[in-house]
Amino acid sequence: MGKYINVDNTKPPVSTSDKFKRFVKRTFKPELFIGLGVVFREMVRKDSNHTMFYPMEKVQIDARYRGVHKLLRVLESGNERCIGCGLCEKICVSNCIAMDTHLGDDGRKKVSNYSINFGRCVYCGLCADVCPELAIVHGGDYEFSSEQRAYYGFKNDLLTKKDELKNQVEFEGYGSLPVDSSDKVKFTPTSYIQKEESKDKE
Ligand code: SF4
Ligand code: SF4
Repeated sequence: MGKYINVDNTKPPVSTSDKFKRFVKRTFKPELFIGLGVVFREMVRKDSNHTMFYPMEKVQIDARYRGVHKLLRVLESGNERCIGCGLCEKICVSNCIAMDTHLGDDGRKKVSNYSINFGRCVYCGLCADVCPELAIVHGGDYEFSSEQRAYYGFKNDLLTKKDELKNQVEFEGYGSLPVDSSDKVKFTPTSYIQKEESKDKE
């Protein structure tokens, strides 16, 4: 049996004055005045500049921000990375990904269309996390409001244009590997053994 621990043994106040004292104690905590002090300090500071003049000024978005999705191509060949496995479609919590596939002339599966209903998407990132080909990632575009409840991004909108391939950054967006991912690869015990063996041979 687990042992229960009382974290608060104070008896609740009974008299009105005790209740009032508790009210004051709970309401005016030092944190309140610390917070007010910070606000006041920023108000009177001459170099204080927290207001951005949007849309003339844009927010610097972190690389791992989960913005509008992108479908990437293989940099070397320009081929589409998406292999139409459907994992992203299956895992999507909002059921907002839809895709069509067909058998290509070369006998390989091709993605005819791929759409995301951005009106339903909650930008959870699961589709990007699960993609085995690093084909779908989240880009940094955060200006995606719409007047319609359902609005779609189609394959042509999401996929890197062939003539813009040189601008596609290999490690871009949430769902991609970090730039230093190769440095983080951990060697298995077998690789240490192999190293030892090769040393012995030398
Ligand atoms: S980010 Fe989440 S909700 Fe949006 S398409 Fe991907 S899995 Fe679905
Ligand atoms: S985007 Fe990735 S997970 Fe989705 S179908 Fe293509 S390869 Fe599979």
